[in-house]
Amino acid sequence: MSIESSPPTVPLSHLDHLWFQVAGTLCNLTCHHCFISCSPKNDRFGFLSLATVQQRLDESVPLGVKEYYFTGGEPFLNPEMVEILCTTLNYGPATVLTNGTVFKQDWLERLQAAEANSRYSLEFRVSIDGFSAETNDPIRGEGTFDRAMRGVEQLVRFGFLPIITAARTWPDEQESEVVERFLRVLQQRGYTRPRLKILPTLKLGAEEERTEGYRASERVTQDMLEQFDHSQLVCDHSRIVTDQGVHVCPILIEMPDARLGDSLSQATAAFPLAHGACFTCYQYGAICSNASSSATRSN
Ligand code: SF4
Ligand code: SF4
Repeated sequence: MSIESSPPTVPLSHLDHLWFQVAGTLCNLTCHHCFISCSPKNDRFGFLSLATVQQRLDESVPLGVKEYYFTGGEPFLNPEMVEILCTTLNYGPATVLTNGTVFKQDWLERLQAAEANSRYSLEFRVSIDGFSAETNDPIRGEGTFDRAMRGVEQLVRFGFLPIITAARTWPDEQESEVVERFLRVLQQRGYTRPRLKILPTLKLGAEEERTEGYRASERVTQDMLEQFDHSQLVCDHSRIVTDQGVHVCPILIEMPDARLGDSLSQATAAFPLAHGACFTCYQYGAICSNASSSATRSN
């Protein structure tokens, strides 16, 4: 008889980063590799209101949160997104993960002014999954490469230096060529010192259907975490607010065990790394942060 060992748990070392699932699961795109299957029709998670975000921001201050992150879905579908970011810049640095396809001129004007008047920075991460329409659009949808590149150009015109994030859907041996071509294309578009972060795909949601998901053997074990730097894992120092409570991390919001409580102070319990996605975090580390990883290039 085999005895399965229980998964290792990761305690919350300190709540440094607070995430907001600000657009729920609603997105204007339907990418084939989206790990929470966001789409124009997926309302399993809804928008966060400015009032809810404000309440969590206030709650986060005594807990010592240092940075705020906004994701979806597409955050800029939330009609209060610009106001939410302007408000957050009174509390700390903010990063918004976007597909870059829906910016309006006046939104960027307001955000540029808000950042100029804030002690804190505003970062944009723009997802583009190939250096051309031919490599990006089969994954993200027809016309999305050109639309996202126009979004990057807009951000650069307003003085922002977006981090371009690309999910690795090419063979390892093509990595350096892909990175070189990506950087060249961004430079040709006027982004002279592009920041590029290559991310692993997460075999959940739509990506699970595309790839057959995680094998049972792809799990983190107790032995693997000995000598491992827990700070590489988002759940070591973050939690995420959705319209349904506070969850362990942005990757697992759909998993029933990932909802930890109604408030930040209720969501501090150690979390068992029982999911296949935890294995990807273990392998690659720092996949949700702005920080450089071994797969990140900028020049
Ligand atoms: S990957 Fe991003 S842009 Fe694509 S459907 Fe998911 S949330 Fe939307
Ligand atoms: S998916 Fe990653 S961040 Fe989320 S609980 Fe697992 S290891 Fe932590």
